[in-house]
Amino acid sequence: MKLYTTCSSCYKDIKLTQKATTKFEFERKYGEEIELSCRKCDTSNTKHVNRIFAKTEWFWVLLSFGISVFVSLILIFSFGGFGFFVLFAPAAVVFGQQKSISAFNRSKVPRSRK
Ligand SMILES: [Zn+2]
Repeated sequence: MKLYTTCSSCYKDIKLTQKATTKFEFERKYGEEIELSCRKCDTSNTKHVNRIFAKTEWFWVLLSFGISVFVSLILIFSFGGFGFFVLFAPAAVVFGQQKSISAFNRSKVPRSRK
């Protein structure tokens, strides 16, 4: 999964280079607020961790799916039906990723009391 936030000036999605699987992990690693500049309009944004959302990386999902279909076809031709099991691997990865994405987007980090 990939992390995004929305630019407050042009409302385009900004892709984050930071990586975290939960908002809590993100806050622990990078702090409650991060500063980033929009690549589209060059505006500098200060974003609270709760304004960050996760999206599926469909490119990698499709790529890994394509590879496993290819691998399983080879396995099916050389070992028979056993190759079908390889197809379950990317499905499990996609399913797991979807689960952590919706968990990420549903969770909220409590705002720090000042
Ligand atoms: Zn912008």
